[in-house]
Amino acid sequence: MAFDRDEVADLLAKCHRRCCICHRFCGFKMETDHMRPAGEGGTDDIDNALPVCFECHSEIHCYNTDHPRGRKFTEKELRLHKEQWLNICKKNPEIFSQPFQSSDAGPLNSLIDELEYNMHACNCLGSSLSTSQFDEALRKGSISLLEPEMKKKINSAYSEINRLNQLFYALNNESTKDRLQGYKRVQIDKNKANTKQAIINAHSSLLSFLQKDTEASE
Ligand SMILES: [Zn+2]
Repeated sequence: MAFDRDEVADLLAKCHRRCCICHRFCGFKMETDHMRPAGEGGTDDIDNALPVCFECHSEIHCYNTDHPRGRKFTEKELRLHKEQWLNICKKNPEIFSQPFQSSDAGPLNSLIDELEYNMHACNCLGSSLSTSQFDEALRKGSISLLEPEMKKKINSAYSEINRLNQLFYALNNESTKDRLQGYKRVQIDKNKANTKQAIINAHSSLLSFLQKDTEASE
């Protein structure tokens, strides 16, 4: 499943590499969604391609029909978003000389960066791991958009991270340090290894989603 590269280039230029739904600038973190999925007879015709950001791509695909909440994106609506945005780009190019409100990369993209940082930080004893992008993604509601399996992996990575951070904190704290003297180095290493594995699982799950259906970023 791949759209024609030249046609994708043309489409990305037309939308200014901005998401057709939320209008955020995506840079290389741009995805091309099949508005009618292959499983439902959708083709690789460029007419079926919708340039979107990671967040909106999650929104489109992660509606849970077994537990319906909110409103599902329909193919018809997606086509209208595309048409509407391409029209704005063509007829009102002056909007691009004004500052956009939300031009940041998006909480889920930042979460990938944070998971990568934490993967490395796990190797250094004593340095606490970062949770700020996770907190931000939670606050913005981005985590709730994810598929249940992916959400579970990310939540479990961050609960391991929090546990490891608490352990580091206790080991460095004067009032609790002595009580933890018996805490074996091997136990710390085990915690770190578990945390690192949980981070790797969460990271690869998010990344594989990013790479799904996105030949445009090649
Ligand atoms: Zn978007």
